[in-house]
Amino acid sequence: MTSTCPRPSGDDPVSPRGDDPPSTPRRGASSANSVSPRGDDPPSTPRRGASSANTIVLSGCQVVTLNPRRDRYASGYISVDGTQITEVGPGPVPERLAGAPQIDATGCLATPGLVNTHHHLYQWATRGRAVDATLFGWLTELYPVWARIDEQIVRAAATAALTWLARSGCTTTMDHHYVFPRDGGDVLGATVESAAEVGLRFHPTRGSMDLGESAGGLPPDDVVEQIDTIIGATQAAIERFHDPSPGSMLRIGVAPCSPFSVTRDLLTESAALARSSGVRLHTHLAETADEHDYCAEHFGCTPAEYLDSLGWLGGDVWLAHCVHLDDAGIARLAAAGTGVAHCPGSNARLGAGICRTRALLDAGVPVGLGVDGAASNEASSLLGEVSEATRFARAVGGPQAMTAAEALELGTLGGARLLGREAQIGSLEPGKLADIALWRLDGLPHAGIGDPVAALVLGPQPPLELLLVNGRAVVERDRVVTVDEQQVADAAQRAVVPGA
Ligand SMILES: [Zn+2]
Repeated sequence: MTSTCPRPSGDDPVSPRGDDPPSTPRRGASSANSVSPRGDDPPSTPRRGASSANTIVLSGCQVVTLNPRRDRYASGYISVDGTQITEVGPGPVPERLAGAPQIDATGCLATPGLVNTHHHLYQWATRGRAVDATLFGWLTELYPVWARIDEQIVRAAATAALTWLARSGCTTTMDHHYVFPRDGGDVLGATVESAAEVGLRFHPTRGSMDLGESAGGLPPDDVVEQIDTIIGATQAAIERFHDPSPGSMLRIGVAPCSPFSVTRDLLTESAALARSSGVRLHTHLAETADEHDYCAEHFGCTPAEYLDSLGWLGGDVWLAHCVHLDDAGIARLAAAGTGVAHCPGSNARLGAGICRTRALLDAGVPVGLGVDGAASNEASSLLGEVSEATRFARAVGGPQAMTAAEALELGTLGGARLLGREAQIGSLEPGKLADIALWRLDGLPHAGIGDPVAALVLGPQPPLELLLVNGRAVVERDRVVTVDEQQVADAAQRAVVPGA
């Protein structure tokens, strides 16, 4: 059976055709089809009241909307027209949509697509190293390996990482790429091409390091760049790739790496560039006790105070980790509206500690979830991070420290807010972009679990029946359909860093 999923770029719209074999499986499905991308922005007012030639309806599924009322439907429907959600409601499909092709989603739970707010895609090529090391030990072992990556390795690694993210329900991901070997080619461009091929909504950041070992930084001198090179390349990346439109599939951010690998001047100039360009700003912060000690020694303050002193904190900024924040740091982030990308799996893998998510949320800090780079989180499952966020919060704060529904919200709407996309993604509402995950909960691992959110978050990962990104099917029946998974795996297997 061939997939009806359109190819990644230059796709022709695929109208639902009732004579095709169902691309999405369902017992008793009346008809089924991928919904095609159209490349244009969604209209500000959703079309309602009739179906167009591009309309397709998911029916009979449980629905977690995450709309302002946080409505959940034990059985409901979602209509999608092109790239946009047009209706979400309880009960059977209304008569006005009866003419549209339907995907019978009985036995499934529909949620917003997951949003990944921190990652390093290239690290897929360097997994399984320094497996028992602290962050600084791990970095010290990996920097010389990363110094030899190139465009070809990054393309293979990024495609594999993105394909796997899609399998875990991710529809939007950021990438923080901060290693640019002089002879490495267009590594940032390679990640952009990979995201377009796999079909995920992409928020890459142009990262950077300019504080080498000889100047008191952690990275060796041969993996850092000059500040002028970095600022010029970052500006060029914004001009080349950034699409600020509401339906954007690609927005650029600016992301110097960390307080111990970046100069004060680069932090300052990066913030100025991001703000003058209207793009968002990101870095790692307060990940480990070692970083806390480094900042105390070099700057005489905490990591959060250091960033604050440079004018960094604001509503356009989100920070990865923030494991080691004191109460004052949390209050400062809340006041500034600065978000936190919580990466529990990576923090546990590196023994960095457990982020104070309850305190952050209670203070009003925006929190999203991230898998972090695959070299510090070999699992790289975004649904897995939703589960771990719940468990870790409870491990330190008791069973009320985070509900399963709260964790799912961090992984969807919370992430959308960090990326500045909460008006367009993160919930299932008319007028939002059609980024939808459909999880099968009627199989052996989940059958009989009364609460579908508990089943999704606390149970094993369910089969991903369908993943729509911008209205286009990226996963069907738990397989990515935009790329050949085996070919992606073979290419990743061959993407060995020379001399490593
Ligand atoms: Zn990271």
